[in-house]
Amino acid sequence: MIKALITLISLLAILSAPGFSQQYQSQRNDMVENQIRNRGIRHQPTLDAMRAVPRHIYVPSNVQRQAYNDRPLPIGYGQTISQPYIVGYMTEIIQPRENFSVLEIGTGSGYQAAVLAEIVDHVYTIEIVEELGKRAQKILEEHYDNVSVKIADGYYGWEEHAPFDAIVVTAAAEHIPPPLINQLKDGGKMIIPVGSPFRVQQLMLVEKTGDDITSRSLMPVRFVPFTSSD
Ligand code: SAH
Repeated sequence: MIKALITLISLLAILSAPGFSQQYQSQRNDMVENQIRNRGIRHQPTLDAMRAVPRHIYVPSNVQRQAYNDRPLPIGYGQTISQPYIVGYMTEIIQPRENFSVLEIGTGSGYQAAVLAEIVDHVYTIEIVEELGKRAQKILEEHYDNVSVKIADGYYGWEEHAPFDAIVVTAAAEHIPPPLINQLKDGGKMIIPVGSPFRVQQLMLVEKTGDDITSRSLMPVRFVPFTSSD
């Protein structure tokens, strides 16, 4: 009888404690305030999107509790989900708008695609590792009807949906893939880490104005390498 009573009391305690989702929401609010806004990201749709997307459901269960930490995390297959600040930075810099069609190369966990999907009209995202692409696709499909995932080598972009208002590349390429430049709209922006694998790379902003292509280095970063299907 006493045992049953204790079980009942502990059950009530668990049920009345702030739910897991509420806990994650407050971790997420702290993440946006301390890691994103305090470091200078002020683009409101980016901040709102990062407050809304449950980052913990995109990472594997073994690292779920670290989902809101100020660091990248392993997502399996030797790949990583970027640190929240980098996701915020890359989202803000393309100045995403409601009517945008955006291409992402390197779906990975699906988190960056979800953040973009909160803001823009459509996100096309390409992943080369089939298992990762399939897993991300499943989670993204449960939450969004404006994300399309393709398993392929992102070097060649996604011709049938081009041109794009913006392209976000989340793996470090040795050079900027020419097909991606071609698939950028006039006035479009591409953000891409460029450099050798496993060394410090430069995050670059590429802008297309008519036939004019300009690029500038923004900051040193470290991304997983852009792999090739050949
Ligand atoms: N945007 C991801 C970050 C993933 S890390 C996220 O939010 O979680 C980079 C991803 O790029 C990895 O999953 C890797 O497999 C993928 N990748 C590497 N080379 C690629 C290529 N050529 N085409 C498509 N994806 C590629």
